[in-house]
Amino acid sequence: MKYISTRGKAPVLNFEEAMLTGLARDGGLYLPEIIPTLSADDIRALNGVSYEEAAFRIMRPYIGDTFTDDEFREIIAKSYAGFGHDSRAPLKELAPSHFLLELFHGPTLAFKDFAMQLIGQLFQAALKRSGERVTIVGATSGDTGSAAIEAFKGLDAVDVFILFPHGRVSEVQRRQMTTPSEANVHALSLTGHFDDCQARVKDMFNDFEFRDGVRLAGVNSINWARVLAQVVYYFTSAVSLGAPDRKVSFTVPTGNFGDIFAGYIARRMGLPIDKLVVATNQNDILHRCLTTGEYRPDGVIPSISPSMDIQVSSNFERALFYAYGQDGGAIAQLMDELKDGGFTVSQGARQALSELFLSGNCSEEETRATIKSTLERSVELICPHSAVGVKVANDLRDPAVPMVTLATAHPAKFPDAVEQATGIRPGLPPRMADLFDKDERVTRVENDLSEIQTLIRERITS
Ligand SMILES: *Cc1c(COP(=O)(O)O)cnc(C)c1O
Repeated sequence: MKYISTRGKAPVLNFEEAMLTGLARDGGLYLPEIIPTLSADDIRALNGVSYEEAAFRIMRPYIGDTFTDDEFREIIAKSYAGFGHDSRAPLKELAPSHFLLELFHGPTLAFKDFAMQLIGQLFQAALKRSGERVTIVGATSGDTGSAAIEAFKGLDAVDVFILFPHGRVSEVQRRQMTTPSEANVHALSLTGHFDDCQARVKDMFNDFEFRDGVRLAGVNSINWARVLAQVVYYFTSAVSLGAPDRKVSFTVPTGNFGDIFAGYIARRMGLPIDKLVVATNQNDILHRCLTTGEYRPDGVIPSISPSMDIQVSSNFERALFYAYGQDGGAIAQLMDELKDGGFTVSQGARQALSELFLSGNCSEEETRATIKSTLERSVELICPHSAVGVKVANDLRDPAVPMVTLATAHPAKFPDAVEQATGIRPGLPPRMADLFDKDERVTRVENDLSEIQTLIRERITS
C-alpha cells in the first residue's frame, strides 16, 4: 500500500513512513493511493466478532508489509485492553431508530483514545525495531493532547510535547495532560487559541531543519493512522444495525473533520452509509462551507464544546482532494488562497460533497437544552459535544434510515457544562478518581515559534 499527498508534491511513502511523518513535506496530508474495499460478505462476516478482530480485518489491507499479521494483532490487542467496556464501542438506543455510539470508554474518556492508543503501540513497535528516537509534537483543543500523553507516556524512544490553549481546556482535560509524572511528557500551555497551537505545530513541520534535527513525528488528527483507526467503529456499529443489508447514517460532532472523514473512508470501502452529517457548534465554518461553498475562517468563539472550537479544519483538505477528483494542484491552490483569507469550493466539488454530506450547527443554548432533554427522554447524560450531534441529528435525520450519533466524550470530562444544563454533576469513573489530587507539571509559552523550538531542543538534549 502506497500513500500520496493531497497536494501532489511530496514523496510517496509506505504505511510506516506515512504514520511516522504525519504532515507531508508539501504541506499536504497523506492518503492511500487506492482505497481497498470489503465485499458484502466480508462486511456481513464482521457480525459477532470481537472489536479487535473487526479492527484487524478492516485495517489489515492498509498496513502493507510494515507488520506481520501476528504483530498487528498483538498491537491491536494492547491498544484496546485498557478500555473500560468489553465491547469497546457500545451502541445505545436513544429513540426509535436513533442510536448513540459511545466512544468514551478509553483511558482519557474521549473517542481520541481509539486512534491514539493504537498509534502509541504502532510507534512503539516500529521504533523498537529501528532503534530510532522521535519527538512528537501535537496541538490540542483538549482531548487529543490527553489521549496522546496517555498513549506515549513512559515510552523509551519518544518525547511528547503537547501545545494547548491556555485557559481554554476543561480542568479534567488539563489535569490529564499535566499530572503524568513521566519525564518524556511535556505539557505546554500556550497564550492563544487552538488554531494558534495548530499553526505553530504546522510551522515546526514546515521548518525542515528543525523537523529533521529533532526527528519530528506528528500524531494530530492529520496522521493517517488515526483516521484509519476510526474507520473501524463505523463498521462495527453499522453491522450491528443490519449493514450491509441495511443502510445506516451517522452524525458526527465535528471540529478537525478527522472522525467524520473516517466515515467517508468506511463508505468508500463498501459500507452502505446513506448520509454523513457534520454537526458543528457555533464555530460553524464547515456548515457554512457545505451550504454556501465559501470557506472563510472568521475567528474562534469559545464554547461549552471546546474540542470543536476550530476554524481551520485540517482534515477537510482530504475530503476536498476527493471532491476535486484527486487533483493535488487544485488543492495546493485552495490552501494558498486560504492563507489570504479563504476560498470558494468549485461547483463540481460542492456537488460531489453534497451527495454524501449534510450539515447543521448548534448554538450554546441549544446544546444545553439538548443535554437536558436527552436526559429527560432517554435517561442518558451526554457531554456537550455529543449534544451538538444529537441536536443536529434530530433536525436532519430521515426516520426511514437508522441514525447513529457519535458520543465523542464522557460527560465527566465536561462536568461544569453538564451540571449547568441538568443540575447533575457527572462523576469520573472510579479508575481515575484521584485525578484532582495529583500534582500538575506544565510550562507556559507565548505564541512564538522560536521560543517553542528552543524549549523543545533543550528538553530533548537534557
Ligand atoms: C476531537 C473531538 C471532536 C472533533 O473531532 P474531529 O475529528 O476533530 O472532527 C469532537 N468531540 C470531542 C469530544 C473531541 O475530543
